[in-house]
Amino acid sequence: MIQKEVKKDSSNDKPDLIKWFSEIGKNSGSVAGGKGANLGEMYNFKVPVPPGFVITAQAYDYFIENSGLKEKIKNLLNKINYEDTQQLNDVTEKIRELIVESKFPKEMEEEILEAYESLGAEDLSSVQGSALDILNNAQEPIFVAVRSSATTEDLAEASFAGQQDSFLNVKGNQELLVYIRKCFASLFTSRATYYRNKQGFRDVQASLAVVVQKMIDSTKSGVIFSKDPSYKDDNVIMEAVWGLGEGIVSGQITPDKYVVSKDLKILDIKIADKKIALTRDSSGGKSVVKLREEKSKQQVLTNSEVIKLANISLELEDHYKKPQDIEFAIEGDEVYIVQTRPITTIEKRVAVGSGKITGEVILEGLAASPGIASGVVKIIKDLKDLPKIKQGDVLVTKMTNPDMVVSMQKSAAIVTDDGGLTAHAAIVSREMGIPAVVGTGDATEKLKEGEIITVDGSNGKIYKGKVSEDKKKKVEQVTAKTKTSIKLMVDLPSFAKRASETGIKSVGLTRMEDIISESGKHPNYFIEKNNAKEYEEIIFDGVNQIAKYFDQIWVRTSDIRSDEFANLEGAPKETEANPMLGFHGIRFSLKNPKILKAELNALRRVSESGKDVGIILPQVILVDEVKKVKEILKEIKFNDAKLGVMIETPAAVQIINQLCEEGIDFISFGTNDLTQYMLAVDRGNEKVQDLYDEMHPAVLYQLEYVIRVCKRKNVKTSICGQAGSKKEMVKFLVERGIDSISVNADVAQEITNYVKEIEENMVKGTDKEPRKYTPKENSEEIIPIKGIEKLKNKKNE
Ligand code: PEP
Ligand code: MG
Repeated sequence: MIQKEVKKDSSNDKPDLIKWFSEIGKNSGSVAGGKGANLGEMYNFKVPVPPGFVITAQAYDYFIENSGLKEKIKNLLNKINYEDTQQLNDVTEKIRELIVESKFPKEMEEEILEAYESLGAEDLSSVQGSALDILNNAQEPIFVAVRSSATTEDLAEASFAGQQDSFLNVKGNQELLVYIRKCFASLFTSRATYYRNKQGFRDVQASLAVVVQKMIDSTKSGVIFSKDPSYKDDNVIMEAVWGLGEGIVSGQITPDKYVVSKDLKILDIKIADKKIALTRDSSGGKSVVKLREEKSKQQVLTNSEVIKLANISLELEDHYKKPQDIEFAIEGDEVYIVQTRPITTIEKRVAVGSGKITGEVILEGLAASPGIASGVVKIIKDLKDLPKIKQGDVLVTKMTNPDMVVSMQKSAAIVTDDGGLTAHAAIVSREMGIPAVVGTGDATEKLKEGEIITVDGSNGKIYKGKVSEDKKKKVEQVTAKTKTSIKLMVDLPSFAKRASETGIKSVGLTRMEDIISESGKHPNYFIEKNNAKEYEEIIFDGVNQIAKYFDQIWVRTSDIRSDEFANLEGAPKETEANPMLGFHGIRFSLKNPKILKAELNALRRVSESGKDVGIILPQVILVDEVKKVKEILKEIKFNDAKLGVMIETPAAVQIINQLCEEGIDFISFGTNDLTQYMLAVDRGNEKVQDLYDEMHPAVLYQLEYVIRVCKRKNVKTSICGQAGSKKEMVKFLVERGIDSISVNADVAQEITNYVKEIEENMVKGTDKEPRKYTPKENSEEIIPIKGIEKLKNKKNE
């Protein structure tokens, strides 16, 4: 790309009027404005931006000074009564006219036109052919975009972002000069002038740079998010259409969608039926072209273009240290980056365009439960504050715990300081269908008791005041039939009916913990009072209430982390240093056999009422744990119990072969914990949630391995971690032949349809077909179970 030297005129104090992109960078805002500085920064960072130059903010000043406009504008502004809207409109219109109709000082005009010509000449370097071709091309001036580039960031942000004009498809000397002046004039809209006056900026104290950039005659174009803007995962999301990109932004065309992982693997391609393309005609106007069917359904980007663009987007993200929203255009074989900005800005644009929320964002966190709701903030610092919560309030707390469930049900929305997407608040609010944002860091400090806020649980944003109608995510009926069975996660008896509205008849996970905490008492309480029977009744009632809406229910024995349940009556007093690694799950149950027996008895009774009951054991790390549970099942004569194991510790993965050989009916992946334990990332600590990734190859490898072994051993495989409601994970698991997937009721329909689509796309005889395994007798496994046996023997010696 040729970049020209700026002519420096040292004979007088004329400032630099023109700067090429090569001469500016991120610190050039006062010269090139924000947009110009950004383009310079990208150019110098070797990002393929379309070539161009900037008419500096000092050139604007020079123009105003030397064309006699300064005094005229000043006099006009002095006359304005700023509260008289009509007068403000009239006077500012007059100023704009004055600017557009004035001539540039001769030397300024020459510099601009010379730069424009150089830009066109650069284009010639790519023209091949006869001298006549070159001459013909030379006669034709090039199309440029002429864009305002504001210098004062605050001003730009607060008052007239997007207000100054930009013009596309400008061609020819006279047109260029007029449009540059039109950009300058756009500093004087009535709104911007009013705002400047309010801010104490009198006269003409604002200035503006103008970017002149070659228009790319796009054969293809689109947008890239260097990180999924919903922050569901870290994948790069890309959309592309034929022709100009405006079709995407305006929503006129359904674009192709590409998902690329951070390590540049294409994970998903959805080819849309684009139907039309927007193109530029020779006069610079836009025309709509109807596409032939073949072209309409053809993939827009080649795979190598997808990878190249994803790579550029990640480099930009790395460079700017923030996820980027990028616009690109492809002309022939050349890929150009037309614009990049942090994703938040663009989210606003998308939000406005799709009729979502506009308003002042006062806090952000993780989008934990979809939907939008407004209400009065009630800050819960202590459990004794809970009665403050009235129907329709917004519950704001450091971290929810199970004894808040009743108050959570009354809340319109939930906001927490701590936690990730698999934390209690997230799990429970999803089941209740209550919008929630978790892991904000400091909601309990930043939000004020009694103020009204709007919580957008789909985007993780909290707005000041009521800025939207409430929108609840509805549970939709599932009709698609899939080979992979779809089950539900249901923990709360009072929400079982809601979940059953999906029409799904199987529950793949009921956690007992919320049933227990609704009683207000820790299981220890009942044992101390020698009243295991009452505990059994509580569990039986709770599970039964859920089971009555379904045919099949898999219930997990209790998994009570000491930090979450410390407030229950009878809970152990001592604080565990590492509750995640502490005394909970099957290790707790086996040391408290009366509690476990009560739970299993409750499940036996549910089973005897005619339901297909499965028992899931949490936090298993030893075959022995399964053996001991089997003994208890025998003892209580729960003979037809279906027994399953949560695969949620690395140990369970390592001994999967032996677990299968011991005799289990199914396994269920607890990806919430498996991810935590594989990656050594605390799932409840919001500071490390950016690292918490169920799609991490280390986790995927475990899943793939376990499915393979279980298939060989005829043990059914399932997932009940939160990742089962995520499409990328669903795709991964279905393609590997998982037997069932448990999802939240609110995404059941979407995930079922997706599973169907994946299944239909699995072509026989290709590597997309799920692998088939023939069970082999005495197959060798690499897993070093012997080490464990040895250790155990040593202990026994
Ligand atoms: C899991 O770990 O994935 C799981 C389902 O269990 P919980 O979220 O209750 O730990
Ligand atoms: Mg778990």
